[in-house]
Amino acid sequence: MEKILQVKKNHETKFRQGFPLLFPEAARTTAPLQKEGEIFRLTNQAGEFLARGYYGKQNKGLGWILTQKEEEQIDFSFFIRKLSAALARRQKFYFYDDTTTFRVFNGEGDGIGGLTIDHYDGYYLFQWYSKGIYAFHEEIYRAFSQITVSKGIYQKRRYQIGGKVIEEDSFVSGERFDQTFPVKESGVFLNANLNDGAMTGFFFDQRKVRKQIMDLYAANRRVLNTFSYTGAFSVFAAKGGAISTTSVDLAKRSLEKTKDNFILNGLDLETNEIIVDEISAYLEVAKEEGKRFDLIILDPPSYSRSKNFSFSAQKDYTALVEQALPILDTNGILLASTNCALFDMKEFQEMVKKGFQRIMRIG
Ligand code: SAH
Repeated sequence: MEKILQVKKNHETKFRQGFPLLFPEAARTTAPLQKEGEIFRLTNQAGEFLARGYYGKQNKGLGWILTQKEEEQIDFSFFIRKLSAALARRQKFYFYDDTTTFRVFNGEGDGIGGLTIDHYDGYYLFQWYSKGIYAFHEEIYRAFSQITVSKGIYQKRRYQIGGKVIEEDSFVSGERFDQTFPVKESGVFLNANLNDGAMTGFFFDQRKVRKQIMDLYAANRRVLNTFSYTGAFSVFAAKGGAISTTSVDLAKRSLEKTKDNFILNGLDLETNEIIVDEISAYLEVAKEEGKRFDLIILDPPSYSRSKNFSFSAQKDYTALVEQALPILDTNGILLASTNCALFDMKEFQEMVKKGFQRIMRIG
């Protein structure tokens, strides 16, 4: 039986227009929601049907809308329809010679919030963002295997159980392949590993940014890539004709992984420097030493904590911009990015602008 949730009057229009997220303030009461994975029926005050969704707690809200059609049930054929539509939309990518890895299912954008599916050269990685969506995993895997041929399937459950992130074997079915292997994106090689902790080597939401760095922003520039992880941005910059790249990341593991990505692309390790350091410490020393860059990439995590440093995008982004600007040369470019969902684009732009204002002592 589906649970009934009544929407507050001032939020009704939003859901009629197709807003996909159930956020706590939208409902008169969320008391009917008890078990993640249960289906709710969203109604207005008069009891008229607005939408149907599932209960699943994520940082963004309490669940996702799955359909606005009253007659549409959330069953096996629903998942077949959503998955087939998404795969059809991405069909052309399978024929590109220069790209062997891409996202095939993008959460609410493809009609099921809380789930992404990425293609890695014949393997697929499912990422489940709540216990609620994971409740449907058997049906979704069954639907997926009915419409797709894959070498193997891996998964990451990206929610917490008892306050702890889930660390487990990522392998689900098919052919096990736990090694690091090269995939291609926009003609550039990147190493991937589907069974090596929470991350696989690079992030799909930055595909176009990587390409733009290579095609538009890197040529003849000295590039600083902060929070560089496996150096994906640096490799694309180097491929795009950067004079030099400097990759800075706190994690020791990033050194080896970044090196490997450069080697994989036949790039030298002299003009492409890799530094293991905390970013504030690095920026401070770079400023004292009078270092200058023409393109600085800022792509910090939403939160990070180390022994004597903590960073939160919401609180500290302005300070990060302020710290980076002194080493950005005249006519340089600052590329500011965030994956933090706690503010919108306008607020983000304000945060970045404030960093500029502080340095230029205006405003
Ligand atoms: N920009 C990367 C992704 C960054 S992931 C890409 O596009 O692939 C976040 C990275 O920030 C992690 O590798 C983590 O080790 C690093 N990190 C977190 N806090 C840091 C800090 N204070 N200084 C430097 N690196 C940090």
